[in-house]
Formats: sequence, C-alpha cells, structure tokens
Amino acid sequence: MNIESDVKYDFQDVLIRPKRSTLSSRKDVVLEREFKFRNGRKSSWVPIIAANMDTVGTLEMAKAFHENQLSVALHKHYPAEILTKFFSSSINTAAHWYSMGISQRDLEKFNLVKSKVDCSLPLNICIDVANGYQESFVHFIKEFRDENPDSVIMAGNIVTGEMTEALLLAGADIVKVGIGPGSVCTTRLQTGVGYPQLSAIIECADAAHGLKGYICADGGIKVPGDFGKAFGGGADFCMAGGLFASYDESGGELIQEGDRSYRKYYGMSSEEAMSKYSGGVAHYRSAEGRLVLVPNKGPVEQAIKDILGGLRSTCTYVGAERLKELSKRTTFVRVMRQHNEMFNKNSKEA
Ligand code: 5GP
Repeated sequence: MNIESDVKYDFQDVLIRPKRSTLSSRKDVVLEREFKFRNGRKSSWVPIIAANMDTVGTLEMAKAFHENQLSVALHKHYPAEILTKFFSSSINTAAHWYSMGISQRDLEKFNLVKSKVDCSLPLNICIDVANGYQESFVHFIKEFRDENPDSVIMAGNIVTGEMTEALLLAGADIVKVGIGPGSVCTTRLQTGVGYPQLSAIIECADAAHGLKGYICADGGIKVPGDFGKAFGGGADFCMAGGLFASYDESGGELIQEGDRSYRKYYGMSSEEAMSKYSGGVAHYRSAEGRLVLVPNKGPVEQAIKDILGGLRSTCTYVGAERLKELSKRTTFVRVMRQHNEMFNKNSKEA
C-alpha cells in the first residue's frame, strides 16, 4: 500500500489570477483552434464537445452545436443506418464524433457504418471505456489505428500521465481524461477510485504535449468558468454532459409534474441506461451512474452563447487572444471559497 500525499486539485479548489492584458474586448478573442494531429491530419474547431450520452449527444444537439462550430460525440446507441446517413454529410464527418466501445458488436457496427458512409473524409472516432487502464484497451487501440490510419482517434478514459503516453503511443491522437468527476457518475462512491479532475488534466496534458498529442477533459464541468479552468490547466478539448442536459435538443425523456417539466439525465452506466440497452444490470456488476430529473430549459442556443461568452471573458482577464494561449497565460490560485453565496439560501432566482 502507498499513499501519495501531495495535494491534487478539482475545479472548485482554484481560481484563475487576472493578468494585465492588451485585449480591449471579448469579441477579439478567437475560440476556434487549429489542431495538427499525430496522424498528420489538421482540423479547426471550438474544442467543446457534447458528451456521447443518449441524453446529450444527439442528432438535434449536433445541429445546434454545429451552427456555433462546436462538436458532438453522438451516442453509440443510434442504429447503423442513422449514423451512416449522418456521417455521409462531409460537414458532419469533419466536425462530429462517432462513438464506440470495444466490444465485437461495437467493432462490427463501426465497420458496417464505415463501409457505407458516402464521404471522402475519414471519421473522427471516440473510443470510450469506463476504465482505460485495461491492457486489452491498449491492444484494441493499436489494432484499430492500424485499420484506420487516417482517422482522428480519441481514446479514454484515464487520469494519469503514464497511461496518456501509453494510449498515444498505441495510436490515439487525443486521450480522454476523467474517472469519476461526472455529474451523474457514482464510480467514486461505488469503487473508491478516482482522481481530482484539474490535477488529472494538468498531469495528462503535460504527458500528452510532450508526445505531440492532445487531451480532452471529460466530466465535472458545472459552470462555464470550469471550461476556462480546464483549458487553462492544459486541456485541448473539453467534453461535457450535465451542462447540456435538459435542453430541447438533449434527448432525455420529458416528464411533466404539475405545471413543471423536467428531462431525464442519467449516466451511461446507470441502471436506467443498462435497462434500456443491455436488458438490466448484469449480476456481476453494479450501476456506476445515477438518474436525475433536470428542469426543462428550452433551446440550447442561449446556453452555448453563455458558455462561449464566459470563455472569451476568461481569455480577456488573462490576456489570451486565442484559446490556444490560455494555458500559457494561466496561473491558478488555491482558494478555500469560490464565490459569494449570500443570496443562495432563502432567496429566489428572479
Ligand atoms: P458531466 O459533464 O455530466 O459532469 O460528465 C459527463 C461525463 O460523465 C461523460 O462524458 C462520461 O465520461 C461520464 N459518464 C457518463 N455516464 C457515466 C456513468 O454512468 N458512470 C460514470 N462513472 N461516468 C459516466
């Protein structure tokens, strides 16, 4: 047994120190970033991705995100025909992500879609497992890369530098970082396993950038300012679920309670999801996600504007003209309090 005693940080443990800047307006900040991947391909995105969950990563979300140059990792439970049709548009193929696990079924479905997609561009692929530490996962990435030399491959999830290196060397372009930070994730409660997300980002980014790879911070973004902290900590991409749940485009079932309406948002390893897609929770495992009902919020457009506005403002406070420069301009300060909570209790949102 070993204890590592140096402190690890979550988003709520820090704030970003403002710095003198020559930027005069938020509108001068460029959030779009050009990426040159290890496999040689280049792409330009605002690097915020809606999570590959069936209550977030939907076709409708992809349309709304696309209009703002953001991307969506479509959830893997869409039928092959729908995915084929979606990715047969070159616009969608360039911007969005095909998600899959590593089962034989996932692989067969991917190969079917790939063979039928009518588009000259290779797919961007998000290969997602709850525990990216398994040796079989690394082997899968190696073989998958050999079969798909031109695709941008994102693989995860992991939380440490050595596993970031292993996945990049196995063939990933982007390593997805996060074990247990998610808003509907119960892995930390069920297993005791996890790693504070900001430290995971900082450490994995350091490992990835040394190998000319990228990371995608996944999970734990609760407010727009957390995107600023994740990018400031070195994340190249950020994936979020809860922040995009319960909009018209989200896909979660609508529940009416009196005059209030809610949408379901649940983890993809929750009992809800496993009952829907795998006929229930297998006898040898437990659910590692939960179900919540989130007040219905209307179209996602305003939320996107709010997030991008917040991120532009983060960049302005530290003098980063481009999102790419944010991590170089970031100094975190360790804090005991995030914000003034005076009106949080016993007051009503106007
Ligand atoms: P959020 O943005 O809601 O905090 O986190 C979204 C992320 O949580 C997803 O991208 C995924 O990595 C993770 N996630 C989704 N469903 C589950 C689940 O059932 N269990 C766990 N442990 N993580 C989940």
